[in-house]
Amino acid sequence: MDIMAFLRQRAGDFRCPVCRRSLADCELEELAHRGAHYTVQVTCTHCSMAFLVALEVQGGGEAQVERVEAPPITPDEILEVHRALSGHEGTLTALLERPAKRD
Ligand SMILES: [Zn+2]
Repeated sequence: MDIMAFLRQRAGDFRCPVCRRSLADCELEELAHRGAHYTVQVTCTHCSMAFLVALEVQGGGEAQVERVEAPPITPDEILEVHRALSGHEGTLTALLERPAKRD
């Protein structure tokens, strides 16, 4: 079966985990395909959040969503953590308890 066509068809049934709006017009990109397992990156057109959906194609040709994974960490977020850590003295726990700063 064409997993991408299936997802495109069903996307409207799902909501973005971040902005909660319909994924009917989302962008879909197949990242990995191993046997009956597919990993597809879904990008929300409303908030531009990208996240991964893992699917398994059943024997009857029906695809089933196995799980939706948290949005992948962006390079910007890694830089942000790096910046936060570079000026930090003390325990990691103390750092995590500090409210996140966003600019
Ligand atoms: Zn969204």
